[in-house]
Amino acid sequence: MNASVQDKKTAAKSLLVMGYEVVIGFETHAQLSTQSKIFSRAPTAFGAEPNTQACAVDLALPGTLPVMNKGAVERAIELGLALGSTIAPRSVFARKNYFYPDLPKGYQISQFEIPVVQGGSVEFYLGDEKKTVHLVRAHLEEDAGKSLHEDFIGQTGIDLNRAGTPLLEIVTEPDMRSSAEAVAYAKELHKIVTWIGICDGNMQEGSFRCDANVSVRKPGEPLGTRREIKNLNSFKFMQQAIDYEIRWQIEELEDGRAIQQATVLFNPDTGETRAMRTKEDAADYRYFPDPDLPPLVIAAEWVERVRSAMTELPRVMAARFAADYGLSDYDATQLTQSREVAAYFEAATQACGQPKLVSNWIMGEVSRRLNAAEADISACPVSAAQLAQLVARIQDGTISNNAARQVLDVLWSAPDSTVDAIIEAKGLKQMNDTGALAAIVDAVLAANPKNVQEFRAGNAKALNALVGQIMKGSQGKANPQQVNDLLRQKLA
Ligand code: ADP
Ligand code: MG
Repeated sequence: MNASVQDKKTAAKSLLVMGYEVVIGFETHAQLSTQSKIFSRAPTAFGAEPNTQACAVDLALPGTLPVMNKGAVERAIELGLALGSTIAPRSVFARKNYFYPDLPKGYQISQFEIPVVQGGSVEFYLGDEKKTVHLVRAHLEEDAGKSLHEDFIGQTGIDLNRAGTPLLEIVTEPDMRSSAEAVAYAKELHKIVTWIGICDGNMQEGSFRCDANVSVRKPGEPLGTRREIKNLNSFKFMQQAIDYEIRWQIEELEDGRAIQQATVLFNPDTGETRAMRTKEDAADYRYFPDPDLPPLVIAAEWVERVRSAMTELPRVMAARFAADYGLSDYDATQLTQSREVAAYFEAATQACGQPKLVSNWIMGEVSRRLNAAEADISACPVSAAQLAQLVARIQDGTISNNAARQVLDVLWSAPDSTVDAIIEAKGLKQMNDTGALAAIVDAVLAANPKNVQEFRAGNAKALNALVGQIMKGSQGKANPQQVNDLLRQKLA
């Protein structure tokens, strides 16, 4: 959850790669989580026997007509609202014409000139730097079928189960400047679509797939020619593919060759990108408005109805955390990385009333342990109520931060124990008896006249040595703040 040091290094380094600026724009296909297809009633469930989930419309039988699925439109509206976009009051479906065996109609129904979602932006942190990536648009379209290559019989079959599955294609401006930024954008977008529940986000099953458009240029020059890396469906491959592509393009240019606009595929086995086809232009698709579908009209009331039924968005929740709990923008953003983390934070905060301490502990000690175990908060052995207990014991002075870390360690492996029982069993209580503490302080002062003298001569560091001695004398149970106060009193 914490942005790693590596992120920051990459971000700083990648502003210029070998004297080139990297430019990246994304096109992401999010499969919408409707029960049925975008223009037919066939189910969209993943993994069924080939061609068992395709009806006459999906098979493009003559005489069939598409009927718009309202649920798909509502999900597009939700994304638009989540990203501060304009929801077009009237948008138009168009036919994108091309021939391919998995596309029996001979065209894909998409939106071209007037998409349903226009503008908007995605905001996220890269390291501790805030980034904004602007959207051009998001449009509704249908997915195509799949060719299944049955190598063992030397034949290819067509599975039309996926034909007509609703997609929202989300297109950014070429705003990103490094592979790390591109991956952070994709993660943020993934977080948002799953948070609002319009897409299940399953990347292995292809529910969320990204095309990365990559170009390089010398700073100040116009945009370079881009190549589009298709169908990136893991964050790891995304980073590898873009990094490879950047290096490849720079080498081509350095060798005096021009970049040809192309569509490329990333091969995870070789770690290389390879051109699939030189890129076609929009004109090649002969787009025209689909005469079978009326324009999509979205009244303002419909948008409002959708808005009022939506859950609190991560951005809104982060702003609320900052305002209500006095957290920094950065902390609030980190704590709204997932609904689960946010819920954990709120539950612990409500139980102990210490938002800042809870935030520090979640982002520090808790997430460090979760990262080490490659687990997320849903697998956290320490409940929000237990963390609240721990924080309450730090706050009321029962234990020091250091002791609290030890309690957390025990809780982590023995989640059935309680904070108070662990403090008791391990004797971690801070010394709150001022009389006993004063005695230790006096003894340490008497035994270390040199440090006392140095401190009085103006060497502030000499105090640390004395604090250290006293903490040692109290077996770590003295309250460091109290020790400091006492020392300053006595040495004043
Ligand atoms: P297409 O006609 O292929 O849809 P677009 O102009 O819509 O082309 O751009 C597609 C994507 O490519 C967008 O995300 C856009 O930001 C990005 N893009 C456009 N030009 C460049 C470039 N020179 N370098 C990197 N990305 C680019
Ligand atoms: Mg495009």
